[in-house]
Amino acid sequence: MPEFKRVILKLSGEALAGNRGYGIDPEFIAEIAREIKNIVEETKVEMAIVVGGGNIFRGIAGAAKGMDRGTADYMGMLATVINSLALQDAIEQEGLDTRVLTAIEMRQIAEPYIRRRAIRHLEKGRVVIFASGTGNPFFSTDTTAALRAAEIGADAILMAKNVDGVYDSDPEKNPNAVKFKELTYIEVLKRGLKVMDSTAISLCMDNKIPILVFGLKEIGNIKRAIMGEEVGTIVR
Ligand code: UDP
Repeated sequence: MPEFKRVILKLSGEALAGNRGYGIDPEFIAEIAREIKNIVEETKVEMAIVVGGGNIFRGIAGAAKGMDRGTADYMGMLATVINSLALQDAIEQEGLDTRVLTAIEMRQIAEPYIRRRAIRHLEKGRVVIFASGTGNPFFSTDTTAALRAAEIGADAILMAKNVDGVYDSDPEKNPNAVKFKELTYIEVLKRGLKVMDSTAISLCMDNKIPILVFGLKEIGNIKRAIMGEEVGTIVR
């Protein structure tokens, strides 16, 4: 039996870039789609996905080069729409129904985000993809994952990352970095650990939503997390 009935899977934009570092890697996205299809069919978990946009554009990067932050953030949100459509296409090619719900209206492309409608789609077994972040500049897709999780009553947020958990220092720079099995929200905030940004962590803390951080590249990890097996780090 799966441990969680309804989850939010957060995929960073970078994850979709695979080994390219930029843009979308069609093979990698097809692999993720296959994994998602198998998980949903086998476990019957209700899965909603929040995709980032960092593989295409980040608001902060634009602002650092002199752009207006609000405008740059809207560009970042549009980047998440591109990623959402790519993911929708890949998952539907696997034969699973999906719906993209966007926080910024663009009727020709996707349904507007309506909380009750999102829940209904999930109940019908459709994979829901939340596009355009929260729809507000100065936020992130991590915060989107936390917000949507609270809104739809998700049991957990699965943070599939390029690293296999949360470490006390950067494991790529420090060979002695130690991985945490478990952390509290407050510890994450106090130590400034890179799980999610602080707005997102606070929202999870206030709404008691557990966060599971694990490596995406290891096939099978998403399912393990859903089944309640130990993967990476749990924040609760
Ligand atoms: N963004 C935003 N509001 C939101 C979500 C995202 O303004 O609610 C913008 C922001 O500019 C961000 C970009 O969209 O840099 C892409 O999202 P994010 O950086 O979270 O993507 P990830 O790091 O997960 O790839």
